[in-house]
Amino acid sequence: MTDKIRNIAIIAHVDHGKTTLVDKLLEAGGAYGDHQETVERAMDSMDLEKEKGITIKSKNTSVKWEDYTINVVDTPGHADFGGEVERVMKMVDGVLLVVDAYEGPQAQTRFVLRKALQEGLHPIVVVNKVDRDFARPEEVHDMVLELFLELEATEEQFEAPFFYGSAKNGFFVGNLNDEHKDMTPLLQGIVDNVPAPQANADEPFRMLASNIDWDNYVGRVALGKVLSGKVAKGDSVWLHRKDGTKVRSKITKVFEYSSLSNSESAEGVAGNIVGIAGFEDIDIGETIAASEEAEPLPFVNIDPPTISMQF
Ligand code: GDP
Repeated sequence: MTDKIRNIAIIAHVDHGKTTLVDKLLEAGGAYGDHQETVERAMDSMDLEKEKGITIKSKNTSVKWEDYTINVVDTPGHADFGGEVERVMKMVDGVLLVVDAYEGPQAQTRFVLRKALQEGLHPIVVVNKVDRDFARPEEVHDMVLELFLELEATEEQFEAPFFYGSAKNGFFVGNLNDEHKDMTPLLQGIVDNVPAPQANADEPFRMLASNIDWDNYVGRVALGKVLSGKVAKGDSVWLHRKDGTKVRSKITKVFEYSSLSNSESAEGVAGNIVGIAGFEDIDIGETIAASEEAEPLPFVNIDPPTISMQF
């Protein structure tokens, strides 16, 4: 089961095409819902954000392709989100680095790439917008590799696979001379190059709350990767709080992040990124586990952000 899961983040400078790429991946995976509904949902979140003062930063989606589930975790591209970028990098097993084929790497490309490399991830480079006037994909390829060197990428990280194409036109190729067709080469590239999550299905359930989302019906939703075991609605679990206290809670709902809306699912299995509800006041960085004796998972709390952009 775990070998059919891929957890990735997409990182990009603003406007380089992250949103368009995610839409096309969803379309190619056939998991794209009714567009109208998508727009409405996005508006709901924004209204909710204003109302409750909660910042809904991540738009997490999941692409079904062949028999794989590719969880796409959104990454804030900005230094203001300090700790959140690190938390996302710890949750995923790979990153797509999207770079505009004309502009080349920019400030945010550098900021988030640095975090990904530091976390030991092996990026897949997506040179987007090759259809643009004055696009210069070969030069951008070299610029990205120079940036890898500057950021002290390891030899393996430097061997990054490159894909070239146009998210807007829905195609990517692994080689600039290849015929332009569809999203398949990139989806295959993700499945082939991103390792399956390291998670153990046979051990008791454990998960780190890497982020907190909000659902109109069930309230606070803890988002994270299931590190071991599985969790289902109705399960009784222990919340290991940062102050060392432990609270028993009952899971009221498990969400799988599928398409742009969250669909109810029976259980969260090891390796998958899920949202679980049933806690009144869970915080980012707290551990949820099947047992009271479970070892809390390590969490580096670096909020408020202490990172500044470096150029
Ligand atoms: P984001 O800020 O990274 O999420 O970028 P968006 O996906 O919103 O794209 C920014 C702009 O670039 C939009 O106007 C897109 O239509 C455009 N765009 C995205 N992909 C392509 C592409 O492959 N070719 C061209 N020419 N424009 C694109």
